[in-house]
Amino acid sequence: MKKEPVKIKEKDSALRVKNFEEVVQGFSEIEALEEAMRCIQCKNPQCISGCPVGIDIKAFIRELSKKDYDSAYFTIRKNNNFPSICGRICPAEYQCRKACVFTKKGKPFASKESINIHFLERFIGDHGAKKGLEVKIVKNEKLSKFKVAVVGSGPAGLCCAGELARNGVKVSVFEGLHKTGGVLRYGIPAFRLPRNVLDFEIDSLKKLGVEISLNFIVGKAKTIDELFSEGFSAIFLGLGAGIPSFLGIPGENLCNVYSANEFLTRVNLMSAHIFPAYHTPINIGKHIVVIGGGNTAMDAARVAIRLQHMNAIKPDTTISYRRTEVEMPSRRLEIEHAKEEGIKFDILVKPEEFTGDEKGFVTKMRSSRCKLGEPDNTGRRKPVVIPDSLFEVDCDLAVIAIGLGANQMLTRVTPQLKTDKYGDVIVNSENMETSIKGVFAGGDIVGGEGTVIEALGMAKKAASAIIEHLLRL
Ligand SMILES: Cc1cc2nc3c(=O)[nH]c(=O)nc-3n(C[C@H](O)[C@H](O)[C@H](O)COP(=O)(O)OP(=O)(O)OC[C@H]3O[C@@H](n4cnc5c(N)ncnc54)[C@H](O)[C@@H]3O)c2cc1C
Ligand code: SF4
Repeated sequence: MKKEPVKIKEKDSALRVKNFEEVVQGFSEIEALEEAMRCIQCKNPQCISGCPVGIDIKAFIRELSKKDYDSAYFTIRKNNNFPSICGRICPAEYQCRKACVFTKKGKPFASKESINIHFLERFIGDHGAKKGLEVKIVKNEKLSKFKVAVVGSGPAGLCCAGELARNGVKVSVFEGLHKTGGVLRYGIPAFRLPRNVLDFEIDSLKKLGVEISLNFIVGKAKTIDELFSEGFSAIFLGLGAGIPSFLGIPGENLCNVYSANEFLTRVNLMSAHIFPAYHTPINIGKHIVVIGGGNTAMDAARVAIRLQHMNAIKPDTTISYRRTEVEMPSRRLEIEHAKEEGIKFDILVKPEEFTGDEKGFVTKMRSSRCKLGEPDNTGRRKPVVIPDSLFEVDCDLAVIAIGLGANQMLTRVTPQLKTDKYGDVIVNSENMETSIKGVFAGGDIVGGEGTVIEALGMAKKAASAIIEHLLRL
């Protein structure tokens, strides 16, 4: 039996930096079958416990290898409404793939790479989309008389909405922005998650009867109490974490110093990269510095270098990070892709000041060099500034990608909703219920920045608890 993994195809870096087309190509049918055949169908499949939504990975791979793609699709959809999205952006190497038996020491195939579960999931998700497969609503008279409000249309909100709708509950989603998807649309660029994939999986929820109201900020347009008095029997909050952190250094308010959120939103949501066809402009620098080492920093840098290529500017985009590459929280794949696309990495750098011209536009970034010290409370070695190591680089566009905090538009006007010192909503971890009876929460608004699949895991747990709550009413 072949134990070497099937290599996934990727667009050539020299070509892909000139557009926003998808970089990672999916498996062909032959490749998917070949990769599925590597799975040894373990008696005790650890991969499933590694998946935050508990997809029956063993079963869907078995069905795939028998070419029963429809069954594989419905097996995944039992636990996950978004196979094509998760198959593209899940950090599987830290989740199901990490738990796969192929990674276990002492096994005959231990040196081999774990099964490419996420690429198989993507293949099956895309099959379902091409064929227009739809899951059925379970008719439940007891539940169909209730309506539930979901605040936020990111992965958490959409997942909770989908789970409830499948069980016959009437669901209304309220989204503050003019488009659905949360970070999936305004944060993650199309070259990682094409918009037709996102639209298909969101549309499949609408087919389950989920109603979506856009440009509707709960906390401003309506309060939680008003939603209850309009007849909603429960409320789910999937508010996300969208408030950027800043460095707090001089010059940070100069023109062309962006937060990653603003920079990515302008391009991904408002199409600023094709201004003036769309109304939102963006400044494109000749010397771009992105500060940070997470997924957001990689996405911002990869968007930035594409803007330079697309506007015939000699590419010069640098990631500036205060630790080393080993400590970067970003997925390794994103780091590799960024490097292949020509992004430079300047590590062990602590920004100290931005300076600008007489019109108030940033022109330089002044930083100190660092070395690594003792580990901090995250277990990562702390950056320690080297005295007298100040240096300056040209920088006419800076993007700050050092973290995101809780969206607080709703929590600020709802004092009975308990939050922690970071502004995250406090829940009972057993059922995701907040301090207000009948109000549940999940995703990044609970516990801060996480991953899409973690948000889905919390939302599924909340949906089950909401169903129990409704049945008790
Ligand atoms: C740039 C970037 C790249 C990332 N890459 C990955 C990746 O590759 N893989 C991965 O797994 N994770 C990734 N993540 C993390 C992942 O996107 C998040 O963990 C996930 O989106 C959280 O989902 P959520 O539904 O909780 O919040 P969000 O996606 O933030 O959605 C929250 C939604 O609620 C809306 N909202 C907020 N307040 C209100 C209100 N009062 N009324 C109405 N609507 C409201 C917001 O407008 C938003 O649409 C990335 C994050 C970023 C920023
Ligand atoms: S642990 Fe790996 S080999 Fe075993 S069933 Fe899961 S995917 Fe297949």
